[in-house]
Amino acid sequence: MINKKELDIKDNFFNEVYKKQPEVSKHFVKLINNDQLTHAYLFDGLAGSGKLYVAKLIAMTLFCENKQQSYPCGICDNCSRIISDQHPDVIMISPENQTIKVDQVRFLKQEFSKSGLEGSKKIFIINEAEKMTNSSFNSLLKFIEEPTGNITSILLTEHKNLILPTILSRTQIVEFHQNNYDDLDEYLKKYSVNNEIVHLVKKLTNNVQIANLMLEDNWLMEIKSKLENWFYLMNNNKDKSFIIIQSEIMPLAKSRDQQEIIIKLFSMLYQDVFNVHFKKYNENDLTFQNICEQIKKMSNTLSDQKVLDILSVILNDMKKIKHNLSFQNLLEMINLKIISIMDNN
Ligand SMILES: [Zn+2]
Repeated sequence: MINKKELDIKDNFFNEVYKKQPEVSKHFVKLINNDQLTHAYLFDGLAGSGKLYVAKLIAMTLFCENKQQSYPCGICDNCSRIISDQHPDVIMISPENQTIKVDQVRFLKQEFSKSGLEGSKKIFIINEAEKMTNSSFNSLLKFIEEPTGNITSILLTEHKNLILPTILSRTQIVEFHQNNYDDLDEYLKKYSVNNEIVHLVKKLTNNVQIANLMLEDNWLMEIKSKLENWFYLMNNNKDKSFIIIQSEIMPLAKSRDQQEIIIKLFSMLYQDVFNVHFKKYNENDLTFQNICEQIKKMSNTLSDQKVLDILSVILNDMKKIKHNLSFQNLLEMINLKIISIMDNN
């Protein structure tokens, strides 16, 4: 079982990495999933630009036992050990007394000559790599030139010009630019999505990672339009609504994160009905403004009690997503309950 503290650590980690380096993160996750990671990288960028976060994200993507759409989960045993620097196959060295000594590099090499404790992949990270002594550089060089097994080396530096050219020429250099995504607002600006979607994202999350998942491949826009199709049928031909769930909504409900967002969207849709019905709204406040007419139509056909009943069905059943019920069964059950409330005289 995972606890609240572990979830907080995971959320902080993902918030930082996706906020600081959304593009680089995405790039590496893709590389790993296409099996195109090379064996040595140099990350060059100022302090605070997210180099170590991305290095750990790479390790997590390689070792995660429970990836969510190619991205690491952040909470499995491997992920949590990587976040807290306790994974036996992800080893990091940092300068001691301002230098990285040859003994430290030897230690690394010894560690890696041992057979993998938890699988054959290994990653080492050298913090402030410019602080290696010349003999450390030379010792490392041999290692990088003749990697044994499935090893990825990641060197982090703020001063690329202090790294020996022989090392530079043998690593792939990734420049880390300081980005200006201070918060979700900044992050959303990079997507040219309309205001309605921006508002919707902000109602659903303040987490940059989740926002990133929602906007990727236009997922949020698509799922929203599927729900609107479903709602249209609930108004006009509700026996057909199950087909939308099976054939249009389910293909977009692959990960647990997506499923949770979909359930939230259902509740927001009926929250709109509730607000219209009890006249608590201003049209601009509706989440699903573009189907305002359908929402009014639904509101007019339902009694006060029915509006309340439907909303409480959705809010109650939302919790069942945590149980071992299949997501399709859950949606079909909600669909069925809504229809029976509507039909009840
Ligand atoms: Zn994981």
